[in-house]
Amino acid sequence: MSDVVDRFIKYCKVASQSNPLTADKVPSTQCQFDIAEVIASDLRELGAEDVHVDEHAYVTAHWPASEGCEDLPTLGFCCHIDTAWQSYGDPVHPEIKHYEGGKLVIGTGRDGREVWVSPETNKHLEHMVGWDLITTDGTSLLGGDDKAGDAMCLALMKRLKDDPTLPHPRLAFSFVPDEEIGHGAALLDLDEFGASFGYTIDGGPLGEFCYETFNAAEACVRAKGISVHTGTATGVIVNASEAVMRFHQLLPAAERPEFTENYDGFYYLERMQGDCEEAMADYIIRDHDQAKVEARKQLMRTAVELVNQQFGSEVLTIDIHDQYHNLADIVTLPENAHLIENARKAYASIGKEMTCIPMRGGTDGSQLSFRGFACPNLSACYYNAHGVREFVPVPELEAMVDMLVNLVALYAVPQQA
Ligand SMILES: [Zn+2]
Repeated sequence: MSDVVDRFIKYCKVASQSNPLTADKVPSTQCQFDIAEVIASDLRELGAEDVHVDEHAYVTAHWPASEGCEDLPTLGFCCHIDTAWQSYGDPVHPEIKHYEGGKLVIGTGRDGREVWVSPETNKHLEHMVGWDLITTDGTSLLGGDDKAGDAMCLALMKRLKDDPTLPHPRLAFSFVPDEEIGHGAALLDLDEFGASFGYTIDGGPLGEFCYETFNAAEACVRAKGISVHTGTATGVIVNASEAVMRFHQLLPAAERPEFTENYDGFYYLERMQGDCEEAMADYIIRDHDQAKVEARKQLMRTAVELVNQQFGSEVLTIDIHDQYHNLADIVTLPENAHLIENARKAYASIGKEMTCIPMRGGTDGSQLSFRGFACPNLSACYYNAHGVREFVPVPELEAMVDMLVNLVALYAVPQQA
């Protein structure tokens, strides 16, 4: 097996799910220290510099510039070490399967049912006939999101170590916890990281490139009611759950995730709970256009006022805060144009045409880019992420390492603004 495949399988076996229920601490789960230590130890073995695991399980390291490139700006890469919490993630048993077309049986799920994929359920399989695919045995997710990105970074360093003639500037690497629960790179020490531009490697199919993300905000609606015995309730009961439902009905029904696509934004009711005394509903607001996010926030505030007017008291309160912003605002600045152009060239160098997709979500880059590290997102070559049908094709994993070797070479010369 190739270096990147070995590393990938090794990292997949180290369970490292994050957990939204313990998001008050970073990392949200102790097991993320396990993968952090494994990666740090591999970095040290390769000879990376400044290898550091901090108290929040952030791993950072540098790779020195090739001869003559010492004065060029540092190029950064960022991946995450946690895996999704929405499916089984411990233990993980990765396997390599040869895909011969049609239905590929991954294994038997924990419910005893067969777990399989086919071109009908994932069209990308059509061009993967004859390829080796890495899957699990069906009992857990694989964690290609984002262990594939982690493995690619280490494999890149191995290539640079084995061939000192490959040109590249100084490289900075970060492996961050809790991306899947929205913390991502929030606590990354960018001064220590030392790069003001680079890439996250946390995307799907080979060739995909993302520099547009949603702008994101969260709205927490809380209701306080008055409960008495229903037999003596006339004119007394204020039902908190009723108030939340009235609020919800004031939001535009068509602007929900299930009815929107491409550049459409939405409101999404993430969770709700309630009785007569107390009720709550948490929403997320998403749109590529920040002005439209602001308009949605205003509509929600107006809806709260209206419900309170109807009840004749302050039954509802709302608290809205921004979560992240559209990466494009930073990446499309003239001084960052090289990030898009060099990615395009590096994909072309492995025979792949770059496809830009407006992401209906965020990336670590959506936070980092606004903190001074401009970073669009490259393919990590995972498919069906966050579930037991996840797979990572070996040829793409290997091609992506070639792409990265060629990409860092493009940064071995000063960039034009
Ligand atoms: Zn990811």
